[in-house]
Amino acid sequence: MKKIDRKDFLRNALALAGVTLVGSSILSACGGEQPAQNTTTAPAENAPAETTPAETAPATETAPAAVDCTDLSGLSDADKKGRENLAYVDQSTEAEKNCSNCRFWQPNASDPNACGGCQLMKGPINPQGYCKSWFKKDA
Ligand code: SF4
Repeated sequence: MKKIDRKDFLRNALALAGVTLVGSSILSACGGEQPAQNTTTAPAENAPAETTPAETAPATETAPAAVDCTDLSGLSDADKKGRENLAYVDQSTEAEKNCSNCRFWQPNASDPNACGGCQLMKGPINPQGYCKSWFKKDA
């Protein structure tokens, strides 16, 4: 059996400690050691945001489904230009002003919430739309 002197023992012990330190550093750099799970109550970065009941509940029971009245494929260029000239938009941004309460609104005969028409322009008109010729409908 080989006799190990004190000098060799210390050299081997230091070498072993160095290997251990380097090895654990490499594992950490490679993700080999996972950090402890975050136990705080803060949401994780990729977790879905919490929603309030108001955000998940339907707007109202009687709110009509949104309709899309933007199909202009049956219109001539002149008709499309007429809509543009009156700055028609499919969804009004003016509070209390939309096509369904405009004097020129022509509702769809079978469904008042569906696309209707307008006396001033051709093509489908959204009851929630708006243009700069809006004029309050008589009560
Ligand atoms: Fe809608 Fe304008 Fe026609 Fe009025 S005039 S119904 S606001 S598109």
